[in-house]
Amino acid sequence: MNKIKLFLKKYGYYCMIGLMVIALGVTIGVAAGTENTEMNIDSSANNPVVSVVNPEVLSFCLPMENPTIIKDYSGSELMWNSTLAWWEAHEGMDLTSDNSLVFAIADGEVMSITEDSLDGTKVIIEHSNGLESVYSSLNNELKVKVGDKVKKGDEIGKASDSAGSENLTGSHLHFELLEDGNKIDPNNYLELQPK
Ligand SMILES: [Zn+2]
Repeated sequence: MNKIKLFLKKYGYYCMIGLMVIALGVTIGVAAGTENTEMNIDSSANNPVVSVVNPEVLSFCLPMENPTIIKDYSGSELMWNSTLAWWEAHEGMDLTSDNSLVFAIADGEVMSITEDSLDGTKVIIEHSNGLESVYSSLNNELKVKVGDKVKKGDEIGKASDSAGSENLTGSHLHFELLEDGNKIDPNNYLELQPK
């Protein structure tokens, strides 16, 4: 019972939207009449019912083309940061690629763009399922702005050495993945490790 309540609390809004979209689809279908079956099929193919009532469906791509991992995600394990000359948990992945271009790993919305001396230019994209992807150490010529809806694989910008906390690493992307606000291993969702 509690699980149902929790589900409704979490997804009730989506369910309602889903039902409304279905109701609208049915209304349009009825209005269009039965002689034009093709149009009914088209309209149901175009409406977003599938993704709305099933928020689990999210597909991913890598944040860079054929990336090289310079520094892996360490979880709570401490790693040496040569720029700051101290040990710290590296809760993201440092990546480079030939063209340095950085891409959105999945469909989502640009939640924030910040610039500070530690992380450099940083873009945060919110996805469904409580996921957020974070792209730090970008240069300031971004291809997106706050509020933009992005698709998987859309170009966000270019990796640089703007993150002061890691700039001895050279030009790179510091990439993080969050689930329900907690930093997680990007490898849980992305195939970043060489096979
Ligand atoms: Zn890093």
